Amino acid sequence: MRVYDIIKAKRDGGELSTEQIEFVITACTKGEIPDYQLSALLMAIFICGMNERETAELTLAIANSGTRIDLNLPKAIDKHSTGGVGDTTTLVVAPIVAACGIPVAKMTGRGLGHTGGTVDKLESIPGLSTELSMEQFINQVNTIGLALMSATTEIAPADKILYALRDVTATVDSIPLIASSIMSKKIASGATHIVLDVKFGIGAFMSSVERAEELAQAMVEIGRRVGRPTVALLTSMDQPLGNAIGNSLEVTEAIQILTGKGGSADLREVCLAVAAQMLKMHYMDLADSEAICRVEEALNSGAAYAKLKEVVAAQGGNLDRELPQAKHSLVVTSETSGYISYIDALALGTIAITLGAGRVRKEDKLDYAAGLKLLARVGDYVETGAPLITAYSNAPIDQTLHKALHNAYAFSLTKPELPPNVLKIIR
Ligand code: URA
Ligand code: CA
Repeated sequence: MRVYDIIKAKRDGGELSTEQIEFVITACTKGEIPDYQLSALLMAIFICGMNERETAELTLAIANSGTRIDLNLPKAIDKHSTGGVGDTTTLVVAPIVAACGIPVAKMTGRGLGHTGGTVDKLESIPGLSTELSMEQFINQVNTIGLALMSATTEIAPADKILYALRDVTATVDSIPLIASSIMSKKIASGATHIVLDVKFGIGAFMSSVERAEELAQAMVEIGRRVGRPTVALLTSMDQPLGNAIGNSLEVTEAIQILTGKGGSADLREVCLAVAAQMLKMHYMDLADSEAICRVEEALNSGAAYAKLKEVVAAQGGNLDRELPQAKHSLVVTSETSGYISYIDALALGTIAITLGAGRVRKEDKLDYAAGLKLLARVGDYVETGAPLITAYSNAPIDQTLHKALHNAYAFSLTKPELPPNVLKIIR
């Protein structure tokens, strides 16, 4: 078999066979295909697409390119978010679901582009490690019901090779490529049932609702074909989710929600909806109302927060110690009065990175205390001089940031229509 013929077949709009897909992924994992041929194939897939069979087979081939974890559980329910700005959901959802008695084995990642990553957020907790051994991971899931681990290099190595090339060849935002990338990692890390939080809006990888829905459908279809039941929630990332953007700021907001002492209503709503879907996956005949009721009970009783403290302690951290605090802050106030009609999540995500919350280069060290706290959200009425947002950093903050942050806000005289936080659920 020649890679040349596979590229040509896809370039001409053809369908790749199972053997062709497996051949490419096996050879790519062994480093036997030069980057120029892989890049050409990725571009052909980007332009010509893949049908459902090809996408499912590509997913399985990528999942099989490395270790496949067996969690030794009858059901292992995982959640995954397609990524966004201030997307604190895992920190809230995982302890809720574990507190409801459902084991959660979560492999998670670092920040990517303008989006944050759960591993970075967790590592802002003093002492906490996400570098667990496989035994520790599986043990912890079986004893305390929750483990949060940084994805190892043994999981889907073909995805790492393809992703690095996609990143520099303008082939990231292809539905079959994103869908197979995400689902292959879930399958390899042992998930038998998957709940996806697919984000749409300016702060997401898919900005339009239509494209986000297409991505969600593609992933649900992969799950069906490979025998891993998958549900997708379409949720809004037009404005940042929750009030906090940045690692320790987001941990603080997650704790506020878990302890019932604050946190934004939209973050709480999305977390409850995702957690309820995970419960419904576990208990097949659970009604929506009963699922929400159990999730709220786990929050209100303090069981979910107790579970977070337990998992943090098991991984070397201590939530009774103070989280990193920034030396410098800058409050931005409104220069106009009116309703906030828009908050540019992408702009705020990018500013949070420059403050130190994310990496510009791979080797950059994070400032765990850096980031942004929203003091007003879309739909709020503000007077001139009212606080909009605070920037935090351990490095001195340039006063010109005031203007850049103000520019992320738009105002109107009439109260804007708010899109629902959870638009729909795709099964
Ligand atoms: N997240 C992934 O893991 N893969 C993609 O291709 C895009 C987002
Ligand atoms: Ca947030």
